[in-house]
Amino acid sequence: MTGLVSMDIAQLEAMLKDMGQPRFRAKQVFQWLSRGERPQNMTNLPKELRSKLSDIHFDGAEIYDKFVSKKDGTIKYLFSLSDGNIVEGVLMRYHYGNTMCISTQVGCKMGCAFCASTLEGCIRNLTPGEMLSFVACVNKDVPAQEGRERSVTNIVLMGSGEPLDNYDNTVKFLRLVSSADGMGISPRNISLSTCGLVPRIRTLPADAPHVTLSVSLHASNDDIRNKLMPINKLYPIAEVLAAARGYADATGRRVVFEYALVKGLNDGLENAGELASILRGMKCHVNLIPLNPVKERNLLGTSRPEAERFMKWLEDRKISATVRREMGTDIDGACGQLRRRVLQQQKEVQQ
Ligand code: SAH
Repeated sequence: MTGLVSMDIAQLEAMLKDMGQPRFRAKQVFQWLSRGERPQNMTNLPKELRSKLSDIHFDGAEIYDKFVSKKDGTIKYLFSLSDGNIVEGVLMRYHYGNTMCISTQVGCKMGCAFCASTLEGCIRNLTPGEMLSFVACVNKDVPAQEGRERSVTNIVLMGSGEPLDNYDNTVKFLRLVSSADGMGISPRNISLSTCGLVPRIRTLPADAPHVTLSVSLHASNDDIRNKLMPINKLYPIAEVLAAARGYADATGRRVVFEYALVKGLNDGLENAGELASILRGMKCHVNLIPLNPVKERNLLGTSRPEAERFMKWLEDRKISATVRREMGTDIDGACGQLRRRVLQQQKEVQQ
């Protein structure tokens, strides 16, 4: 059965009707859930109803631990789930608001060569309620900036996991988090990052309109991409770009391409030239990220000046590009790194 925080208003209405409750209760419950409250704290509900709701699987998360960067105030969270799994989330502070990076799966099965999240495969999908709960926990934990109702104003689905491999739950989460009766985060303030599951990119405009699509490209040709991302053997670059173009055409939004610069592998100026030529004519932006080295992987990041040279090369060829500011490097900022370190420490303690 769907857990409480994973329910939308229609589902809550149907359930509450069966409990003999009036229709307006659904909205009340949904509002409480979006604020991260458990049934016992839903003070405008009758006591008896609160106790009935407490018997239903809550399907949320709790803050297990948090680490605050001394450099830039970035907060890395570890959330615990009801089955004991632990997942990461990050809150990044910008002048325009706070962006939260959310995981969509416990682990990941995509096997990208540079990514810590995938080292032990995918343990399970996250539910819509768990994802919503990450945001609610942070809204409770961090005061909103002046003039704002809630702390989290923007969301990126760039934590552990492949959102399009957990498609239905991700789409439902997007609906819940953007609902005006709940947190009301505009889909325009939400980015979804994918390694390139082409059939799902094609259905996305109908199921999650207005969300910004980010595609993890990381290579200018199939030879390089095959080395870094096994998914490229199933959906090679030409197919990914065609699907991205379809998304841009259907939504009118520009697609963002993520490009992690790996020393000596994809960071040469010939790669920049090749990238510019395959992206020519597309409404897009390239986000360059010097690779965050992962201890378990033998790949190094490109230096900042070289990354900037790569960016300039793209810009000279009329491709909009930026080098991403690195945040939270003192607290294991990259995907899956913190969770792995904590799990490793737990193992060491147990041994
Ligand atoms: N599965 C999705 C979203 C999760 S990863 C995807 O592939 O897009 C979010 C982004 O971080 C992706 O672009 C991913 O390729 C990148 N990433 C993962 N590990 C990294 C590392 N060590 N250094 C830099 N970027 C990394």
